[in-house]
Amino acid sequence: MDKENLRKSLLKIRRAMSAAEAEAKSKAIFENLKKQAAYQSARAVLVYADFDGEVQTGRIIADLEQRGVNVYLPLILSDTEFVPCRMTKNVQKNRYGIDEPVPCETAPKASGKIDLAICPGVGFDRLGNRLGYGKGYYDRYLSGETCYKIGLAYEAQIVAALEDGPDDVAMNCVITEKAVYGACG
Ligand code: ADP
Ligand code: MG
Repeated sequence: MDKENLRKSLLKIRRAMSAAEAEAKSKAIFENLKKQAAYQSARAVLVYADFDGEVQTGRIIADLEQRGVNVYLPLILSDTEFVPCRMTKNVQKNRYGIDEPVPCETAPKASGKIDLAICPGVGFDRLGNRLGYGKGYYDRYLSGETCYKIGLAYEAQIVAALEDGPDDVAMNCVITEKAVYGACG
């Protein structure tokens, strides 16, 4: 299946999930995430505000904040680029309807500020290859970055094998409600 058709079929599955199922599975994914060394030791974390049926991150953000970890959310700069932005109480909706902190302290590429990036995805394989929405936002930000990369997904988003394109940045591990694929620290 080509990338575009694979995206469509995976998004259809994700969007068909009931609210109760998404809630229960997101909770289980958070429990699996909490056990990982890379999560426990991170001091500055890039995480996303979930939309469109992505694995929920509310619990993760609350846990990080409560532990005094610096939390950054993507601030969309263009159709292909974001910069992590330190979370504040002031938020506004970006072009996708997702909350972003404004104004904020940014963590540009090569700033070395982020030690863990928690990434959403449309699909993943067990080796950590990631399929996004098709704009390469995460590939662009993460290329050349040495931070730890964790993908969050429902088991239904795991596929046998994804193409590892030249610009694609793989995750160190992928966490679902059922398993942890790869090494999370
Ligand atoms: P996604 O990762 O969102 O599924 P793709 O991997 O298909 O999307 O990437 C979308 C486009 O962005 C592709 O044309 C890809 O080559 C381009 N791209 C991704 N990362 C970079 C990068 N670091 N530099 C330049 N182009 C990039
Ligand atoms: Mg990609």
